[in-house]
Amino acid sequence: MAETIFSKILRGDIPCHRVYEDDHVLAFLDVNPIARGHTLVIPKEPAETLDKLSDDAAAAIGRVLPRLARAVLAATGAESFNVLQNNGAPAHQAVFHVHFHIIPKHADGTGLGIGWKAIKAEDAPALAKAIAAKL
Ligand code: AMP
Repeated sequence: MAETIFSKILRGDIPCHRVYEDDHVLAFLDVNPIARGHTLVIPKEPAETLDKLSDDAAAAIGRVLPRLARAVLAATGAESFNVLQNNGAPAHQAVFHVHFHIIPKHADGTGLGIGWKAIKAEDAPALAKAIAAKL
């Protein structure tokens, strides 16, 4: 995997506003937040996208995400939040080291804006089987 800004943060070569760390996970404030308390949660395991992450690293992230979300809400006073996880440049990924955004939605409207345009679910039975067959 290519070197990223997050590898440098993990090594301590560049600073971050750290909120949590354990053997497998680091969480820190986003440097360009879209809401106060916008936090990034990253695995220490190097993987560009979520589909390349090991089960163990994914489990380590999953174990702390709810606790981190609760802390972000408690510290900022927000009552709602989004967890965003981008994979691939067309899907808005800019840093190619897996990361989860915890983004509080504040009363002033700051937070994640979502464009959600549903399409027709035409081949759902076959598609569900095709995906299941790939697991
Ligand atoms: P994404 O578009 O999902 O790849 O988001 C990457 C995020 O990393 C953006 O929200 C950036 O603001 C954030 N980011 C980039 N560099 C840093 C840094 N040095 N410290 C903290 N967050 C960063």
